[in-house]
Amino acid sequence: TEELLRKSEKLSVVGQLAAGVAHEIRNPLTSIRGFIQFIQEGNYKREYFQTILSELDRIQSVVNEFLVLAKPQVINFTPRNLSPLLHQVVELLQTEAILNNVQITVELDETATMVNCEENQLKQVFINILKNAIEAMPNGGRITIQLQQLGDSLSVRIQDQGEGIGEERIQKLGEPFYTTKEKGTGLGLMISYKIIQAHQGNMKISSQRNKGTTVEITLPVCASFA
Ligand code: ADP
Ligand code: MG
Repeated sequence: TEELLRKSEKLSVVGQLAAGVAHEIRNPLTSIRGFIQFIQEGNYKREYFQTILSELDRIQSVVNEFLVLAKPQVINFTPRNLSPLLHQVVELLQTEAILNNVQITVELDETATMVNCEENQLKQVFINILKNAIEAMPNGGRITIQLQQLGDSLSVRIQDQGEGIGEERIQKLGEPFYTTKEKGTGLGLMISYKIIQAHQGNMKISSQRNKGTTVEITLPVCASFA
């Protein structure tokens, strides 16, 4: 069965977010406190330091991702061609892909026209989605990125052959802090939805357990090119 998802109503959630950040930070803080107490009591073990460091890193990633959200949204919309932008993003993630035995195939309609966008924010979205795709294939596989123009909108599809997402979990995607990963923040998709929404676009996720996941983003073609 295929599950489709559209999100926009879950995005005005500043209060929920603040509560979430507090929660996400409280857990590692409690654990750091505990380990420091052990050490203080003379119960010294070398691996405690490793745990403390990774808990600190965890707090740092939550704070970093949260800062992306807190920054003023959409600074400067400019007409941009998505093909070079997608190529740059693939370039950025190529090392990570190779290390994970993942091959990225790019099928771009080079005649596709422009979208009005805040380039760095769109890059952030594609990076988030590609990272998820890589992380969904611990034993390697292929990611296909397609860019197509469909009338007055552009469609970017990012398809992986990973573990997929079960029906019961798919409606959780985009909720702040929803993650199934040990080192995840559960902020990537939420930020992505927010950015795409600010661009008057749409993001849909469809997935089949053990077959893979497809994320489709549609964005309106820049008016002067429509
Ligand atoms: P994070 O990657 O930090 O966990 P995200 O917001 O990027 O946070 O993703 C939330 C969750 O959605 C992931 O933990 C994972 O369970 C699920 N997910 C997202 N993308 C994929 C994908 N391509 N394949 C399988 N599961 C995915
Ligand atoms: Mg992610």
